[in-house]
Amino acid sequence: MKIICIGRNYSEHAKELNNPVPQKPVFFMKPDTALVINNNPFYYPEHSNDVHYEAEIVIKICKKGKHIDEEFAHKYYEQISIGIDFTARDVQSECKKKGLPWEIAKAFDQSAPVGTFINKSRFNNLNRINFSLSINGEERQNGNTSDMIFSINHIIAYISSFITLKEGDLIFTGTPAGVGSISIGDHFEAFVEGKKLLDFSIK
Ligand code: MG
Repeated sequence: MKIICIGRNYSEHAKELNNPVPQKPVFFMKPDTALVINNNPFYYPEHSNDVHYEAEIVIKICKKGKHIDEEFAHKYYEQISIGIDFTARDVQSECKKKGLPWEIAKAFDQSAPVGTFINKSRFNNLNRINFSLSINGEERQNGNTSDMIFSINHIIAYISSFITLKEGDLIFTGTPAGVGSISIGDHFEAFVEGKKLLDFSIK
């Protein structure tokens, strides 16, 4: 499986990092070794002194597709969850300055904890899902998929015009404003429509 992440999909987040709001989706990838499941802890990586959290709605692809039409994209995923796109922000800033790829900042081991998946049929409108992240019991990020610049279906259509999507692939759909640094000992809890789907600690 592969993990594909959308960058800058919420204009308030693009602004907080002084990035322009994109005209087309921006995406990058993480390898399967980035995935953390079952609420296992995240170990602070040695190559960064400023790891940031980015809480994002995650969708799981349920069948193979290439050149998926936006109109039919909804048939390619059945389950959603919430995940954290951990980012070595200090390393990423260096990469951006030098015009280098982001993998060292984004794709390192354990950089993608993902919560329990739930069936999308539980939601009336996938374009209006509330989600949030609390750290040590305090809310840090709160988003709604209605604020996405590019919808889930648009993202699937766009990515699949370049890359074949396969069953089990995960798509991180971008983070709202409110990203920030993490510390060893932090306790993360992430919610979709008030239901806690992810609960882990930083070690
Ligand atoms: Mg992100």
